[in-house]
Amino acid sequence: MLTSADVKQAAKAMGADLVGISPMERFEGAPPQMDPRYIFPDARALIGLAFRIPRGYLRGIEEGTHFYQYPSMGYANINEVYAPTVLHELACLLEDHGYEGAVFRNTGSRMAVSDTSGDPAESAEYGRRVRYSRPVAEDRPAPDVMFQFRIAAFCCGLGEIGWSKVFLTPEFGPRQRFAFMLTDAPLEPDPLYDGPALCDRCMACVRECPVSAISAEESVKVTVAGRELEWGKLSEWDCFHGYMGSNRETNPFLPEDAFDELPDAAAILAGEANLLPEKALQVMAILRQYYASSAGYNSALCGGRGCLRACMVHLEERGVLSNQFDAPFRKRKPWRL
Ligand code: SF4
Ligand code: SF4
Repeated sequence: MLTSADVKQAAKAMGADLVGISPMERFEGAPPQMDPRYIFPDARALIGLAFRIPRGYLRGIEEGTHFYQYPSMGYANINEVYAPTVLHELACLLEDHGYEGAVFRNTGSRMAVSDTSGDPAESAEYGRRVRYSRPVAEDRPAPDVMFQFRIAAFCCGLGEIGWSKVFLTPEFGPRQRFAFMLTDAPLEPDPLYDGPALCDRCMACVRECPVSAISAEESVKVTVAGRELEWGKLSEWDCFHGYMGSNRETNPFLPEDAFDELPDAAAILAGEANLLPEKALQVMAILRQYYASSAGYNSALCGGRGCLRACMVHLEERGVLSNQFDAPFRKRKPWRL
């Protein structure tokens, strides 16, 4: 009989850093389009796997001297190679014990604009290019059903959602990526995270985001598994172009005339523009010309300046993370051009 302890031990030996298990009932009330139970109706558990982003992957961006390693190793490699490899091995392990493992790798925000309306306008240039989809039966939502990784990680008991909307764990703070496995194996679930609050609403993420994508005042509240969760309202489209380096003060690869073809070029360069999808996509297309992407990913030149690095620095200073280092991450004032 395969136990939760067996699965966790195996997943960690395969390369996962954290493993948590949720019963499917915790998704009760989720909108059908975001309910993993529609992907595998016979699933009895959701296994959440977290893969740390080693702190040193962020070093070059922190110093302002080398930008390639974080987008490639800390982003694309974990999402595209490392985590899928572990998922594959874990699916085979479950299968060897007579259970199915339905993998759910990180699909990135690329899937977030899957357009089920039949109108290709929004999704034409971005992402997985799902331009049209319809339910295959009356009782099912249209494909692809996509569940929210942050909510799923919460259901697996791995931590909490910070004000930045980034998931925080007591081990690594904001410094990990996730992958999930639905299985019909009857695994014992983990409790929801009940440790000390990690996010203290310091708002460092808000202050340091180069494009002000995270609101300091407006929030989003949802109830999951009987708990109310709240995070700052994130302007996803601004984060999309912001994480690719649209603010020139935090992107040394961006020339002054980069956005000259756009009417509000100066505001975009200064990180002040609040862009709607169409304009954000134009900005991202321009940004792609200035820094080569890695493994099909956009280059995350922002290096999570607010939601990842500023948050991590703050959580490390508070001493609330169990992954500790001899030396602090931040040695000097963050650079800004
Ligand atoms: S930076 Fe502060 S407010 Fe933002 S998520 Fe981290 S702890 Fe919360
Ligand atoms: S990834 Fe960068 S642009 Fe997006 S919210 Fe975080 S700090 Fe802001």
